[in-house]
Amino acid sequence: MRVYNFSAGPSILPIEVLEEAQRDLLDFNGSGMSITEMSHRTKTFMAVNDEANALLRELLNIPEEYAVLFVQGGASQQFAAVPLNLMTTGEADYLVTGNFASKAQEEGLKYGKANIVASSKDKNYTYIPNLDNLEFSKNASYVHLTSNNTIFGTRFTKLPKTSAPIVADMSSNILSEKINVKDYGLIYAGAQKNIAPAGVTIVIVRRDLLGKQMPICPTMLNYEIQAKNDSLYNTPPCFSIYMAMLVFRHLKKLGGIEEIQKINEYKASLLYDFIDNSDFYTNKVNKVDRSIMNVPFVTTSEELDAKFIKEATANGLVSLKGHRLAGGMRASIYNAMPVDGVKALIEFMKKFELENK
Ligand SMILES: *Cc1c(COP(=O)(O)O)cnc(C)c1O
Repeated sequence: MRVYNFSAGPSILPIEVLEEAQRDLLDFNGSGMSITEMSHRTKTFMAVNDEANALLRELLNIPEEYAVLFVQGGASQQFAAVPLNLMTTGEADYLVTGNFASKAQEEGLKYGKANIVASSKDKNYTYIPNLDNLEFSKNASYVHLTSNNTIFGTRFTKLPKTSAPIVADMSSNILSEKINVKDYGLIYAGAQKNIAPAGVTIVIVRRDLLGKQMPICPTMLNYEIQAKNDSLYNTPPCFSIYMAMLVFRHLKKLGGIEEIQKINEYKASLLYDFIDNSDFYTNKVNKVDRSIMNVPFVTTSEELDAKFIKEATANGLVSLKGHRLAGGMRASIYNAMPVDGVKALIEFMKKFELENK
């Protein structure tokens, strides 16, 4: 039986995509083998690689002056790849709005000055700092931020004003809402939240930032080399790229990012409205900074939180346990979570409240 899976990552995939992958598994496009069994130099795989790239460009309206790379190592590898490629002045600014943002800044310190220009650690990352009075370093090569904070359930609704290129970790909100790629120097995202199975990591980078990497930059992390080789410098994560292609086709069929954004905003508003109108459940995040992808909440006690998670699981609503740094519950309602999944969660929350208040 399929469950409603609220996992933060790896996470739910569209059922239509899983079924298509199942149909393709023994014989992809008449090749007599699966996509995971063939050389990445075959015409068949290269067509998949090209289509995935082209569809992502179309969905996000990525201008020609940006390269789209499919790399490995997850978003965490980008914490190092970004400074190795872009920290040309030996210095960069970081906005620390969560655990991953903090890890990115700490990794940056290995390669130069990684300045913290804002942090919301004082209130356990439950808000986004005021962006209007930030003091950026004159010498910063880039400004790094995490556009959606997966663990704490916050997101940036606007960007800071800075002349340095903005580098954004969009692992948990890429393709969930419209963005203007030109506002960024570089965007990166691990696939396993909103795109595909773990394996591929997306990098979208303005081409004029390429080719300035530090001499110690490993070949595999060198964006310019990856761009020149269409991300096929070595064996790519073929299955993850193929699944990404299927998900991109699926999003396009749904009407693109504008349509999926409407659905995402609707799902999030259903859940937040219910929580706000209840005196049993609480979301501790500053309202204007709320994520539309990850919704943390608590009941009135830790004992009831534990009971909630247990009973929800028994009712087919799984992976609702919050991250250990945030506690309580967290419902990740990525693109692939149907509206019916959110409604089922709310119905369960109502019932649990009645029984335990
Ligand atoms: C999950 C996540 C990461 C870590 O991703 P990996 O692919 O496991 O390295 C980094 N940043 C954000 C915002 C995430 O949600």
